[in-house]
Amino acid sequence: MKTTGIDENINDFPSTDIEGLAEPDIEIDPLFEEVSRFIVLNQQGSASFIQRQFCIGFNRTGRLFNQLEAAGIIGPCKEWGKPRDVLINNLQSLESVLSELQPIIDLAREKEAERAAIHERAHEQIERDKIAERIKEKYRRRQLEKNIRQELIDSGELFGEQPKRPKIPREVVDAVYTRDGGRCVYCGSTQNLQLDHIIPFSRGGATTLENLQLLCQKCNIEKSNKIG
Ligand SMILES: [Zn+2]
Repeated sequence: MKTTGIDENINDFPSTDIEGLAEPDIEIDPLFEEVSRFIVLNQQGSASFIQRQFCIGFNRTGRLFNQLEAAGIIGPCKEWGKPRDVLINNLQSLESVLSELQPIIDLAREKEAERAAIHERAHEQIERDKIAERIKEKYRRRQLEKNIRQELIDSGELFGEQPKRPKIPREVVDAVYTRDGGRCVYCGSTQNLQLDHIIPFSRGGATTLENLQLLCQKCNIEKSNKIG
């Protein structure tokens, strides 16, 4: 007994009987019609030939050959590694066999289309997830940039809207308060008093008694608005 070649693996598969194949719930290979036409046209029942021609693996070819045998298109395995007999000699005869099998061929096509649609949806979902991830990543990056920028401004390494002001010494605060009589030097208010740099700190004004004055919040804001 010859035991070389791929065909012996293929012929190892148990055959399905014709009754089994006629059951509508039995799955048939989507390539069934195409392969059977190719085999009848070429009168060639070699499994390795079909494998090469249709670029399919030997497991799938084995299942296909079982189906072709069950449909009476090829004969049973007589010897390991040998091509099957082709039992139908012309395409016209084949077409009548195929028309009998049409319901399960259609079912196979439907299932194949379903599988393709499921695959398509899964693929689309993966794309959506990727895009969502990119958007989130962009947002996180922007948020991080904002935080880092604020940290640099706070630490004085980067000027933001305003340079960081040094803390005014307690005795200077007291001296300005006493000198200005505890009132806004503009309007005389005693509410919401603040220390104001006469020459703004951002323009090089010093934090000294001479350059500081007492202003209420309202006057301080008005002054800031005028300076811009
Ligand atoms: Zn005031």
